[in-house]
Amino acid sequence: MTQIDWKNLPFAYLPTDCNVQCNYKNGAWGDIRVSESEYITIHMASTCLHYGQEVFEGLKAYTGADGKIRLFRWEENSKRMSNSAKGVLMPEVPRELFREAVYQAVLRNKRFIPPYGTGATLYIRPLLIGLGPEVGVKAAREYLFMVFVTPVGPYFKTGFAPVDMMITYKYDRAAPLGTGSYKVGGNYAASLLSLKEAHETGFSTTLFLDAKHKKYIDEAGPANFFGIKNQTYITPDSKSILPSITNMSLMQLAEDMGLKVERRPVPVDELSTFEEVGACGTAAVITPIRKIVDPEHNRIFEYGSDNQPGPISTRLYQHLTAIQTGDSADKHGWISFVE
Ligand SMILES: *Cc1c(COP(=O)(O)O)cnc(C)c1O
Repeated sequence: MTQIDWKNLPFAYLPTDCNVQCNYKNGAWGDIRVSESEYITIHMASTCLHYGQEVFEGLKAYTGADGKIRLFRWEENSKRMSNSAKGVLMPEVPRELFREAVYQAVLRNKRFIPPYGTGATLYIRPLLIGLGPEVGVKAAREYLFMVFVTPVGPYFKTGFAPVDMMITYKYDRAAPLGTGSYKVGGNYAASLLSLKEAHETGFSTTLFLDAKHKKYIDEAGPANFFGIKNQTYITPDSKSILPSITNMSLMQLAEDMGLKVERRPVPVDELSTFEEVGACGTAAVITPIRKIVDPEHNRIFEYGSDNQPGPISTRLYQHLTAIQTGDSADKHGWISFVE
């Protein structure tokens, strides 16, 4: 095998040795099997291809200074995948099956787990899709659950550095009673056009507003949004956002730091009052935001100085990443050792 340049790994797919799969048929899950192929053969009339019966998850494995391999709150990913599956009429992946598949996928690809101190991690992607020949709009009878892994570098090449975002009034990612709170591919499809336009105009991503009133902040592209002011961590409460495990953890750490935590609708107008704002998710942990452009009202909100992330965002980021790699004590029992 050619040596992987861990320090310059992009956030992109790199083939590994194998993936783990399990089929659901006749109302029951079968046995876990290991596949060395990166390809799957499925029926062309599968519901995942036509009617969006597809849910996924994303988590990471981290190597600690002690050489041990850690997972961060995988049970939460398992719960969320069950919730997403129910939302699009798919069978839930039992917790034990989820655990076994994730552990096997990681352990069987051990040589692809980036070492401690490189900033790189092993990204784990559980995926559940509807299979089988169906033409009418209905749920499939057969499903495939699979887990593949791929080593990734830091999400943002520039590291923990602020980015610019643009509010979109042209597009919605999800409707209030739609699928926004499920991790389904359809939500991502709905966000691609706005993402492309954001990139073309020099922004890292779009800030989506609530679809009904176009007045409150929903999500920051594929990540949750938070703002900090007066020693308070504030994050939107909305039926159409994906409950981020990173955000859930940051809320806890903010509380541990003595901050107040508020989860409530966040009006766009409030952006002018925040001291720090950011986006959060597994991929980047925290993406500090330097500037938010509101094209509808011709205004620009700016944060921080000297292109530096704010002090509280920085502390939260350092604390969470330190727990993930084992540098900080795991007071909340968030870490599982794969080995
Ligand atoms: C996955 C995802 C997030 C982040 O969730 P984490 O559990 O923190 O990784 C946020 N928003 C959307 C839309 C997502 O799909």
